[in-house]
Amino acid sequence: MQAQTFSEILANRSKAALSFEVFPPKTDTSYDHLRQILPELVALKPDYMTVTYGAFGSNQGRTLEIAQSIQNQFHLPTACHLTCVTSSRAELDGILDEISAAGIRNIVALRGDAPQGQATFTPPVDGFSHANELVAHIRAREKAGRQPRFGLAVAGYPEKHLEAPSLEFDLLKLKDKVDAGADCIITQLFYNNADFFAFVDKARALGITVPIIPGLLPILSARQIARILGLCGSTLPEGLKQELDAVGDDAAKVEEIGIRQCVNQARELIDRGVPGIHFYVLNKSTHMTQIMRGLGRA
Ligand code: FAD
Repeated sequence: MQAQTFSEILANRSKAALSFEVFPPKTDTSYDHLRQILPELVALKPDYMTVTYGAFGSNQGRTLEIAQSIQNQFHLPTACHLTCVTSSRAELDGILDEISAAGIRNIVALRGDAPQGQATFTPPVDGFSHANELVAHIRAREKAGRQPRFGLAVAGYPEKHLEAPSLEFDLLKLKDKVDAGADCIITQLFYNNADFFAFVDKARALGITVPIIPGLLPILSARQIARILGLCGSTLPEGLKQELDAVGDDAAKVEEIGIRQCVNQARELIDRGVPGIHFYVLNKSTHMTQIMRGLGRA
């Protein structure tokens, strides 16, 4: 059976589609760990999974290998993330050919961040400057018969992208990505649902009609969350910040707060009718078991 695309997964659902994002680890030991926990994540019955490309210093070369193993071994629809970082059009074409030949039907199309040591993103020679160009390129290849139609997701930022001068500017650029052919939007992590609902209202007012899927990162470690927030520009609501500050370095208590907060946040989003929730699972499974149970999905 052919794997489903984002649009097929999101169509006519009575329940929000829940998805898990994993990243290809750098070391062989962490890779073995991911292979061990994949069956545990799949047992929680996400509707699809995505595999990042070069994020968190991960190993780009293994994105397709992991996506393929999720799809072929576990029969779960999968998406490969793909960025414009350091790749020319010809190199991106080579990767797209490989993804297509592997039977993967979905791509999360991104610009990517500047490589480590570089302050700003510089477009590669004969490459793309922004994600909308990658989306347009993929759709043009399809039109030319070079590949079957992919499901395409792009990134949205409820608290605006770090480099954007304003949320309004960023939303106009998001519209460019959708107009270029994206089927849905997956958001950056956020902790205040009011930011997400305001973002959706503004996107709809601009004529963006595709599904907007909130991205949630359960907090499991105070140090890790501080680092991630610093990198992506998302913020913690004051109440949550105070709650975390009060338990300091007590890892078990931080995790307990993080899981409870994530379940509550997801419940409200689901109650308000989101089409799906994308969980940044950071290659761990135990907390996701508790979260899926909290949502009545495991
Ligand atoms: P763009 O949409 O190109 O936007 C980048 C910035 O440029 C924004 O500030 C935007 O306002 C501005 N902009 C856009 N178009 C124009 C234009 N035409 N002219 C002027 N300014 C413009 N990173 C990875 O390396 N690997 C991953 O696998 C990965 N997965 C992700 C998944 C999700 C769901 C999300 C939300 C992010 C992910 N990222 C990943 C991070 C992402 O690569 C960074 O946030 C990156 O800095 C921006 O990528 P983008 O696709 O949003 O870029």
